[in-house]
Amino acid sequence: MHLEPPVFRPPSEAYSLILQLTIGCRHNACTFCGMYRGKKFRIKSWAEVQKDIDLCALQMVGMHRVFLADGDALSAPAPLITQTAQYLYSKLPGLERISMYAGPLDILAKTTTELQDIRKSGVSLLYMGLESGSERILKTVSKGVTAAQMVEAGKKAIQAGFELSVTIINGLGGYELWREHATDTARVLSNIDPTYAGTLTLMVVPDTPLYRKIQQGEFKIPGTIDILKELKCLLENVNLTNCVFRSNHASNYLPLRGVLNRDRDKLVALLEQAVSEPDAVPLRPESSRGL
Ligand code: SF4
Repeated sequence: MHLEPPVFRPPSEAYSLILQLTIGCRHNACTFCGMYRGKKFRIKSWAEVQKDIDLCALQMVGMHRVFLADGDALSAPAPLITQTAQYLYSKLPGLERISMYAGPLDILAKTTTELQDIRKSGVSLLYMGLESGSERILKTVSKGVTAAQMVEAGKKAIQAGFELSVTIINGLGGYELWREHATDTARVLSNIDPTYAGTLTLMVVPDTPLYRKIQQGEFKIPGTIDILKELKCLLENVNLTNCVFRSNHASNYLPLRGVLNRDRDKLVALLEQAVSEPDAVPLRPESSRGL
């Protein structure tokens, strides 16, 4: 099938068929992100998408999951998304789930009816990058969204019937704002109360504005132990109903998995041990980390 590289997907979509509904990211301005810097944003036409699906139906037999990319696939018009989902279910007989990246402003730009139509067409899971709950940090990294908009978008998606997976970036506040990053993110996450929450740990991508800030000595990435302390502080402050939490992304030092709040004490105890006795808890070596 036809894919315009580079293509990205969440860790949990490793075995999914990736179908591009959009190319690149409309915002393309977050200071830490280099994912789509070389791509000019556009929404694909139905003719292009249909051709891709027809090819997939011939080449990829037995696919159970489809992930709609690129960066903010939900910026595509609702009729294009619903038509795509319906066609995918008609052409891939074993299909069980369609998920997609969804920017908070794209969620807010859709009406509740549009979101419900997308959900009814068979898209069941949205991935939203929260990154941080701190207004200051969101502004500094040019996320283009406020913490209040993050909460509004997350709640709107859940109310429309979607499962919501929220991503956080540990280390995004640097040394200076780590506590604010942890506590404000815990507050925003608790307000959204998503189905899934996952963490990445900041890795600096060359040629991004954040990379240049680091070169100029204006930002310092927290060390391994500080990142673990920050994550511990975040977990201590969240209040979630039944959220599946994972830190299984390759950028993380310590893979964790549990349900929050249920497993919070266990996860916090493990982080505490990793902080106080670093040799007792195996951590991913720097050389094995990746994005
Ligand atoms: S983090 Fe998301 S919204 Fe920001 S530039 Fe990257 S893909 Fe676009």
